[in-house]
Amino acid sequence: MHIRSLLVLPLVVAAIWMFLYGGASMPAFGVGMLAGFLPPAIGLWGLWCRFRRQAVAHYDFTQNLIDVIPHPVYVKDAQSRYRMVNRAFLEDQESSAESIIGRTVREITNDSVSGKTSLEEDAAVLAGAELRVERHDVHPLTGAERHRVIMKGSCPGLTGERLLVGGNFDITHWWISEQNLLQAKQRLQEALENEVALRQRTEDFIQRLIDVIPDPVFIKKSGGQYVMINEAFARYRDVDKLKFKAFLPVPKNPLAHQKSLDEDARVLSGEDVTKEDHTIRQATGEEVFRIISKRRSIFVDGDPVIVGVEHHITEWRLAERELKRLAEEDALTGIANRRHFNREAERAIEQAHRYNEQLSLLMLDIDFFKRINDCYGHTVGDEVLCEMARRMQLCLRKSDLPGRWGGEEFVALLPHTMLETALMVAERLRAEFADLPVGTSAGALPVTFSGGSAQLRPDDSLQSLTARADAALYRAKNSGRNRIENAETGATVFPEDNAAW
Ligand code: GH3
Ligand code: MG
Ligand code: MG
Repeated sequence: MHIRSLLVLPLVVAAIWMFLYGGASMPAFGVGMLAGFLPPAIGLWGLWCRFRRQAVAHYDFTQNLIDVIPHPVYVKDAQSRYRMVNRAFLEDQESSAESIIGRTVREITNDSVSGKTSLEEDAAVLAGAELRVERHDVHPLTGAERHRVIMKGSCPGLTGERLLVGGNFDITHWWISEQNLLQAKQRLQEALENEVALRQRTEDFIQRLIDVIPDPVFIKKSGGQYVMINEAFARYRDVDKLKFKAFLPVPKNPLAHQKSLDEDARVLSGEDVTKEDHTIRQATGEEVFRIISKRRSIFVDGDPVIVGVEHHITEWRLAERELKRLAEEDALTGIANRRHFNREAERAIEQAHRYNEQLSLLMLDIDFFKRINDCYGHTVGDEVLCEMARRMQLCLRKSDLPGRWGGEEFVALLPHTMLETALMVAERLRAEFADLPVGTSAGALPVTFSGGSAQLRPDDSLQSLTARADAALYRAKNSGRNRIENAETGATVFPEDNAAW
């Protein structure tokens, strides 16, 4: 409403008053003006009261609203004076609304530094900025450390003026929790690092420990993956010790590989494996004998593993084999000696009796051998003995067993062989000697032998069988030598009868 329109009504009322009661006098004019002002003044007063009531209602509502908020909340005016604070704010300040409202932070706390900061922040926010900061400080009253998120923003008030609305959110608890969490994480990390370091130290120790063992040692996981090997293993396999870690062998022989995996699985399920292994190394052709022991264990990472030790016994096995060979072979000729021949012959005779199989035996003696020795010396005699053994081996089957009975006497066991066949074999050998002189260091020497052949009878022992063959041989000697005698028929096999055989 324009000010001139407000003056129109009192002027009109003053003119009417002067006209009715006394003409143009000052009192009459004054009374008239007063009477003219009265109604609009009363109207304005009514409006003002209504506005005040509404403002109070709004204020109360707003106060109730912010009181519900459990964090300190406040409203400041353009001069940074508190206009409204909530209950949490007063509790935090341990103060009353009367000592807060209408004052600035600086006036309340008497702290010029924080007060200045607060005023600067307020000015920036009132100019339109938004503030949201995390602040670590000390409570001015309790001295307790606190972490807060400070938020400030501005908005127009009921009467259009610029107001600042702020709030502090105490995050000390969360902050401490976060710190605790961070510390816990750090401790966990440290513990993990310690564990990794400890594991590494343990692995190093195990490595050094197994390196001392002269036998190849390996540690494998399920699936055949190697986790650790020792020096001896690396040397034996000719591999790099470190590169072999986590090595998964490529199966060259799928069947053998599967067998090994199955065995590993059995070990992992608790079975102890100890076995002897005999292999021929591809690269060198060298024979290797090993006793392999496998046991289940738990590795430093907690996984079940197979700990294997390969005890190489090649030297012992080869020495054993040599001893056996020496014990079984005749030192001069290399064929079975009498003891080994007897043992094998007894076993074969027992089997022939059990399964009713045929078996024949030859007994051969070099003719006038003493003369060879006497004429050419023992060495030449030995050469003849070796040649006799060699030709016997060539003439017999793999399943037959030639042996040196003693001196210049030889025997041959022919399992699954009937007498006629044995006689034929003996005669062939005899004919070969008769036809082919033996090459010696003293030159080619004519050598013959006599022989007796016997066939196993149901009641025969080795002794009775050899006795019959020996008797036949004796007859062959007495009959003129260079011939084979049939022990079962007593017949002499003359050289000229060869063709018939
Ligand atoms: P016979 O035709 O009657 O069998 O006559 P022989 O000379 O072959 O038989 P005798 O039993 O009289 O002689 C066998 C000789 O064999 C006697 C022995 O010195 C010799 N002798 C035995 N063992 C060996 C040996 O290992 N090496 C050599 N060189 N001679 C041996
Ligand atoms: Mg002789
Ligand atoms: Mg003799």
